[in-house]
Amino acid sequence: MKNIKDYHLEELKQELKEMGEKPFRAEQIFQWLYNEKVETFDEMTNLSLELRETLKKHYTMGDFHILKKQESKDGTIKYLFDVLDGNAIETVLMRYHHGNSICVSSQIGCKMGCKFCASTGIPFIRNLSSGEIIEQIIKVEQDTGERISNVVFMGIGEPFDNYENVVKAIEQINHPKGLNIGARHISISTSGLVPKIYELAEKNIPCTLSISLHATNNEKRSNMMPVNRTYPIEELLQACRDYIAKTNRRISFEYALAKDNNDHLEDAKQLIKLLKGMLCHVNLIPINKIENGQYSKSSNENIMRFRDYLNEHGIVATIRRELGADIEAACGQLRRKNR
Ligand code: SAH
Repeated sequence: MKNIKDYHLEELKQELKEMGEKPFRAEQIFQWLYNEKVETFDEMTNLSLELRETLKKHYTMGDFHILKKQESKDGTIKYLFDVLDGNAIETVLMRYHHGNSICVSSQIGCKMGCKFCASTGIPFIRNLSSGEIIEQIIKVEQDTGERISNVVFMGIGEPFDNYENVVKAIEQINHPKGLNIGARHISISTSGLVPKIYELAEKNIPCTLSISLHATNNEKRSNMMPVNRTYPIEELLQACRDYIAKTNRRISFEYALAKDNNDHLEDAKQLIKLLKGMLCHVNLIPINKIENGQYSKSSNENIMRFRDYLNEHGIVATIRRELGADIEAACGQLRRKNR
């Protein structure tokens, strides 16, 4: 059976047409799915009983079950969702003063193999569909009754390794008749799949692009992130420069600071050299140590010194606030747990 949340409005209109139904029914269905956020076809009371039965025969609602929910003392909530095929994924809701942000997963598992990330410890199973990506947002809104204003693709998986479904999900999140969250409130983070940076630039979706940089020379970066062997720093940064030239949008570089690895002033100096003159922002993340991981967190003192050095030399840098570490919901701590 097909997941009704995998369809764009125009695609669903087409499906209904083929069933001999009026296309405007698709708009009504969208209203129920993304505005009312109902969990069953039976609740779509302005559709005829007959149409509701037909829909049930052809489609699922793709409605996730909550397997586990943990709340941090800072208000962050981590969900473990049953994605209905025996697999489970994690999603995190973060509460900030400026509104709620959700960190969504894009794949079940991850192929990138970054040495510092807990998502690496699990085999790759499959991509999530666009409907499964947006379901994470819908479920969290249903469960909390709170509106989500920001979406970050920073959960499990490499979004650019599931490019088509992720772009489709972003279009659906952004659509006025979909979840209606502005593209400027959507961030997509990549370990650096260069060809997809060019593709996204062509698409011209005004979301924020984040690049997981984490190191300033190829040797160090390849040790941390095997993807660097395919797309080394020079190619990655050239793609970023081209992206900025094409879209006129600021790129955010993520740099996770690991003690005695990439947190020296010499690294900061190199970073300044690499990023000089680029329309960008650096997001410093205190690295979270994972089980059996070789990297551990830099001292707060080092992190602040690193930030100040960048700022003093013309690179805007901020330290990412750590949320949900007590429930293993912070950066790099998400994985596909056993159910
Ligand atoms: N695959 C994508 C998105 C998922 S990770 C990417 O690589 O960008 C989201 C961010 O958390 C990335 O910047 C990632 O490098 C970072 N991250 C992963 N493990 C981490 C850890 N242990 N501590 C801090 N940040 C981590």
